[in-house]
Amino acid sequence: MKQRIRFGSAPATAAGRIFDRILSNPLAWARTLLVRSIRWQITGWYTLLLAGMMVLFSAGTYVAVYRLLIENFDESLASQANLLVNTIGFENGELMITNDSLRIGRVNNEHLIRVYRADGTLIYNDNSIEQANALAASVPLALAGERQHFAIEGREGPMRVLTVPIFDGTRTAGALQLGLSLEDVGDTMRALLKALLILAPGVLLLASCGGFFLASRALGPINRITRAAQQISAENFSRRLDLRGPNDEIGRLAHTFDAMITRLQLAFEQQRRFTADASHELRSPITAIIGQIDVAVERTRDAESYQATLLSVREQAQRLARLTNDLLYLARSDAQPKPVLKEPIDLGQLLPAIVAQLEPLAEARNQTLQIQLPPTLLTHGNEDDLIRLFLNLLDNAIRYTPIGGSIAIETGTHTTNNQPTIHVAIRDTGPGIAPEHLPHLFERFFRVDRGRTRAQGGTGLGLSIAQTIAQAHGGQIQATSTLGQGSTFTVTLPCGSIQTLC
Ligand code: ADP
Repeated sequence: MKQRIRFGSAPATAAGRIFDRILSNPLAWARTLLVRSIRWQITGWYTLLLAGMMVLFSAGTYVAVYRLLIENFDESLASQANLLVNTIGFENGELMITNDSLRIGRVNNEHLIRVYRADGTLIYNDNSIEQANALAASVPLALAGERQHFAIEGREGPMRVLTVPIFDGTRTAGALQLGLSLEDVGDTMRALLKALLILAPGVLLLASCGGFFLASRALGPINRITRAAQQISAENFSRRLDLRGPNDEIGRLAHTFDAMITRLQLAFEQQRRFTADASHELRSPITAIIGQIDVAVERTRDAESYQATLLSVREQAQRLARLTNDLLYLARSDAQPKPVLKEPIDLGQLLPAIVAQLEPLAEARNQTLQIQLPPTLLTHGNEDDLIRLFLNLLDNAIRYTPIGGSIAIETGTHTTNNQPTIHVAIRDTGPGIAPEHLPHLFERFFRVDRGRTRAQGGTGLGLSIAQTIAQAHGGQIQATSTLGQGSTFTVTLPCGSIQTLC
């Protein structure tokens, strides 16, 4: 009766439970192991391959050794047959044999000596093997002068037989057949087979253990990577692999993984900051609106007071509308980063139209707004987006430049990396931006002076949106500034036509 081995009636330890599960269904366990572990897969394939190679090698060795032994056996058979042939004399052209003369050919018990006359008659036979036909078949060939090796089944196992012609001068006077037992060869081959059958599985087992050890060593760091990756979460982005070792495949994987986590951490922190900033920005006007309404309804007021409250509420609502509008635009461009840029756009016409739109604002602040550009300046893109880009930059220039200041728009073309490009520079005589703030200008919700710029109606998203649009058009915006003298925002866009026309 088959009995399942159990570690007690109910295994108490975890190892006991695992063993019990393995023994209850070893096949399923082996399949799970192979599917889930590359280490076992490598070892399995390696062992399978090695087993195939060992079978081939063993079979090859067996055949080669057998052939070599038979070759040697045939050589010694031939030299003994020659010896025997030399003991045979002739009388009047007839073969002369005495039993004693052929006795020297008897090397062991299991042997065969037969002599035939030229007409094929058997005249000497010292072994009564019942394979007369097989033996006689080679005689005509020997009488025709050919030597022939073949095997027959003797009384105590296989024998190797050689039939040679007997010459009397140049005439074939008969044939001699010498057969010897292949017992020694058989013994050697059996010993070889035994050795191969014992050695091969042993070598295979050792090699498989070696393969498993090497695979474990090679894949060990991957387990560490997996464990580290499991520990990384949104709350714990600081974890790194910091794998020290050679710059091999695993080393490169670990470095790439660390670099990826760093990028993810940055993106995640950016996202978190953005969400916090966005909710803060949205809350401020709402709080202001609620506060103003609360004050207004506290007691009965005159019409003028209500009107002032309503105007202020309207201003806050407009700010909210601008903010949600900008947030929506960024969310859309994040979701679909690259618009299809096909429309040809002439900045020579677009820029003056934008300037005309903003002129009343500049005039109200007593600022001069100058534009200098060639009649055509072709690019490709989305007209609404490009209007938004230049409106944002010009609006900033007007808002941040003091009353009486000046704003100039200069355009030009140049070649960067063999690509003709357009640049539009917007210079103002505003307060300028400190060098430490320049790298952050295009970040979402970045403001040099939070309180003041918010009071001026900005959302903190204008430059970020402008940069997003420029990049989507294959260009970019660069800011340079000297504190106290003014700032220049330069937009670079790809040329929409050949250089002379753009
Ligand atoms: P905002 O809506 O606050 O203007 P922006 O993204 O357009 O947001 O600009 C970000 C910050 O960059 C501004 O708050 C301001 O501090 C600074 N800035 C932008 N343009 C200028 C400029 N022409 N001169 C001085 N500072 C500027």
